[in-house]
Amino acid sequence: MEEKILVTRSSMPPLEEFIKEIEPLWESHFLTNMGEKHKCLETELKKYLGVSDISLMVNGHLALELAIQAMNLSGEVITTPYTFASTTHAIVRNGLTPVFCDIDEKTFTIDADKIEGLITEKTSAIIPVHVYGNICDVEKIQEIADRYNLKVIYDAAHAFGEEYNGIGVGNFGDASMFSFHATKVFNTIEGGAVTFKDSDFGLDLYRLKNFGIRGTERVDYVGTNAKMNEFQAAMGLCNLRHITEEIEKRRIVYEQYVSRLSCVKGIRFMELQNNVKSNYAYFPVIFNESKCGVSRDRIHVALADENIISRKYFYPITNSFECYQDRFDANETPIALDISKRVLTLPIYADLDLGVVDKICDIILNECKQ
Ligand SMILES: *Cc1c(COP(=O)(O)O)cnc(C)c1O
Repeated sequence: MEEKILVTRSSMPPLEEFIKEIEPLWESHFLTNMGEKHKCLETELKKYLGVSDISLMVNGHLALELAIQAMNLSGEVITTPYTFASTTHAIVRNGLTPVFCDIDEKTFTIDADKIEGLITEKTSAIIPVHVYGNICDVEKIQEIADRYNLKVIYDAAHAFGEEYNGIGVGNFGDASMFSFHATKVFNTIEGGAVTFKDSDFGLDLYRLKNFGIRGTERVDYVGTNAKMNEFQAAMGLCNLRHITEEIEKRRIVYEQYVSRLSCVKGIRFMELQNNVKSNYAYFPVIFNESKCGVSRDRIHVALADENIISRKYFYPITNSFECYQDRFDANETPIALDISKRVLTLPIYADLDLGVVDKICDIILNECKQ
């Protein structure tokens, strides 16, 4: 490829559309602190995600950190290491101890059958991840949470716009975090949100993202600054108008990969889940070297040689990070560890040329020599 192909490419509205959206800001001079664009995006997102309440944030990571803080958790939190650094860091930065549960081999989400064995008298919450947009076993997780009186916060960074049994994914658990980072299915450049039902929790979130300020002369919490600004919200309003066609274009890329790679022995890709309206956010492939005759790392290099950048998401898993050395042991989650060594996510985005998809598949087929 002459042009470098990255694993993703940010969706952007037509420039004129964005300019029209931000023009009123030159009248109002109101650039941040929950302005008109911010209000408007909250309304539109509530509709699109089918949720009763939402709080916008400057990025997804702070959305998760503040959701955890507003939940007043203590002690231990059950989560998975097969995720982006953010999930584990958000727990640790809140002074809590992550307890790592292994993942399900098929969906890469938390193995709900292994949660109960990890619960102790210190456990206060479960923070599962809808990895690659695969929806966790929300029913079983809720049943366990109810029985042990635990909170559930979903990392739904990958699950924007998805529905399970016709229900917006932001409705499960006590709260869900979404990321609107430039690399995600829907972006506000940087950005994120928490969806929730409890209005008191919403009020706490609102104060926490604005320094803990309650009124001009009263500060209740040791808060932070996590406010989404008006330019971010304007970008979100524009991108949201195109989201349906963007996801449809991703679906076509997804189908092309599936049709070309289904025949390859020794590789497995993510199957779409029943009852889930997918957003086609990622295309992870798991290589079984003994069957396909080639390692994940070899494919990674073969693609890079052709200027195609695939990514080893999620490798390394978070419980093997240097910063957590001597604290956690990746061998306690053997399935997550194994998959992390064999996974490669291939480029997928709305405007990815199908000719490039074919080229990527040709390289993989050629390396697997079947
Ligand atoms: C992107 C991401 C985040 C963090 O979101 P940012 O908006 O980048 O701060 C958290 N968790 C997961 C699983 C992610 O992929």
